[in-house]
Amino acid sequence: MDLTVAGYMKELSEHRIAASRCNDCDALYLPPRPICPNCQTRKMSVERLSGEGTVAGLTSISIVPSAMAAKGYGRKNPYVTGVVALKEGPSLTARIELPDDGGEIQSRVGMPVTASFEAEVDGDETRVTLVFQPS
Ligand SMILES: [Zn+2]
Repeated sequence: MDLTVAGYMKELSEHRIAASRCNDCDALYLPPRPICPNCQTRKMSVERLSGEGTVAGLTSISIVPSAMAAKGYGRKNPYVTGVVALKEGPSLTARIELPDDGGEIQSRVGMPVTASFEAEVDGDETRVTLVFQPS
């Protein structure tokens, strides 16, 4: 695969989470990078991640972008986005689906989550994004 954001998106479309590992200093990058920013080597390997992690921080969004409004989110139906620390080390920002049990979202920090792949249709394009659910 290409160690680029485009390569990462193609992997996502095939339901894989691809990172790159530096063969010299062992640093792991998500999305993948072709050159290690730490030691400037191009000796990078593809590493596929599990999609398992924990919630590091999160917030509720009620003023939503049009793509999320089209899915039914808004003031009366906010969605939650947050930072997930993956068990392999890298963190990413993604939507997090929580059970509607009335719990305060801030109490979810540290909650174990697992990634799923969600297809978003935008005009002629279908884009796959990660959405996390409680493990
Ligand atoms: Zn390196």
